[in-house]
Amino acid sequence: MNYHAIEFETSFGLLSQLPPSTLTEIAFSGRSNVGKSTLINKIFNRKTLAKVSSVPGKTRTINFFKGENVRFVDLPGYGFAKVSKAEKRRWADLMEGYFGQGRDIALVFQLIDMRHAPTEDDLMMINFLIDGGLPFVIVLTKADKLNKTQRQARLTALQEEIPCADQVTLIPFSAVNGDGVEEIKSIIDEIAQE
Ligand code: GDP
Repeated sequence: MNYHAIEFETSFGLLSQLPPSTLTEIAFSGRSNVGKSTLINKIFNRKTLAKVSSVPGKTRTINFFKGENVRFVDLPGYGFAKVSKAEKRRWADLMEGYFGQGRDIALVFQLIDMRHAPTEDDLMMINFLIDGGLPFVIVLTKADKLNKTQRQARLTALQEEIPCADQVTLIPFSAVNGDGVEEIKSIIDEIAQE
């Protein structure tokens, strides 16, 4: 895939605004601050691609980026402590709506901070993906913040922490040293070729 030919399309805060699914989609999901924007910018080698879409409160919008044969979908971050019930409801409506529209979703990159056990919200999201039969891989972000021994310890612990871990691909990723970038790109390339 030509990673330079990516363009930001638009942001949506309401389900009723979502455009119809006209291309295969690859989505990115994770809690706020997990490093989702950084990962998107790293993959597409742009400094501000994911931030370009940012408007105040953008964490709770769905952002669309168009590639050659694939549309990339930056899902709203979750897990913000100081969020009102109404805002949480809107997030849930948006997510359930996005996943419930029968869209052509080839893969979800589910991001988790490699330094810590998955949060309750992370587990809720993973179970939602499993229950919905949605294909996903887990990207373990900020891997550069751990040394080799710590990384191995987290990889071992995750086998117990993640449901169905033996069937899930785990990709340690670092935007700082580039770990995991090629693996993620080869997964995207495979989907974009289909
Ligand atoms: P988002 O809210 O999920 O989009 O998170 P951001 O991409 O804005 O990243 C949150 C913070 O984590 C920022 O300070 C980033 O610089 C930092 N960060 C993201 N990815 C990495 C990484 O791979 N390594 C390190 N060391 N820091 C990272």
